[in-house]
Amino acid sequence: MTALVSGGSRGIGRAVVLRLAQDGHDVAFCYRSDQDAAERLVKEAAEYGTQVVATRCDVADADDVRDWYARTEAELGAVDAVVTSAGITRDRPLVLMPEDDWNQVLRTNLDGVYHVCRAAAFSMSKRRRGAIVNLSSVAGVYGNTGQANYAASKAGIIGFTKSLAREAGPRGVRANVVAPGLIETDMVGDMTEAARERQLKNVALGRLGRPEEVADLVAFLLSERAAYITGAVLEIHGGGTF
Ligand code: NDP
Repeated sequence: MTALVSGGSRGIGRAVVLRLAQDGHDVAFCYRSDQDAAERLVKEAAEYGTQVVATRCDVADADDVRDWYARTEAELGAVDAVVTSAGITRDRPLVLMPEDDWNQVLRTNLDGVYHVCRAAAFSMSKRRRGAIVNLSSVAGVYGNTGQANYAASKAGIIGFTKSLAREAGPRGVRANVVAPGLIETDMVGDMTEAARERQLKNVALGRLGRPEEVADLVAFLLSERAAYITGAVLEIHGGGTF
């Protein structure tokens, strides 16, 4: 299988790249700016013996994504699996939220998913085969204080993916959402200690999730074991209440 992962250089995307490579798949992943992290990951994944290719690509830029997708298919062959993990936060109460923070988050998190999935849906529908997993968040399901922009983008991903599942299902293409709670990545590292403690009080298992735990769920959804699952939103949050 050939997989394409947006935002694969760090955090959850990185764990997905390693999981898929370990399972014997070729993987193309993109990142926006942290070339060192991308190169480290390519080296680390090499031990699994599959092809793992990194490309700098801003998912908010439609042309960048089109080029990345075409280059991947030329280098690694047709893409069977897509994971969109590229995402950012710009947290602030709505009354203090500048337009730029709103636009940047929506462009990266929601437009980015549209750009990647449009390329994938076109190519997968033609081949009548493919699976897509888009990363949303519990913020997109339940909302969250200080995250109106982020929650809107993540709720948008849910409506988008459910629609895509209906359109592409008859053509043999599945699309699902994974909505994580608090997962131990750089993104959560940006939270204050107090905010993190407050959130953990509401998590039944009493700890943050690990990127590898999310990656296992993503890998399952991409596999044939999930052949009858599409249009679903799978929450993974250690029994959190939000
Ligand atoms: P990280 O901040 O750890 O990593 C983000 C990744 O996305 C990096 O590889 C980064 O590359 C890449 N990226 C960011 N912007 C762009 C862009 N414009 N174009 C291409 N790549 C980009 O995030 P997480 O791993 O924590 O999050 C992954 C996904 O999971 C996100 O969509 C997030 O919203 C979601 N999520 C995370 C949760 C958590 O608790 N961590 C909870 C719920 C959802 P670079 O370093 O080069 O910028």
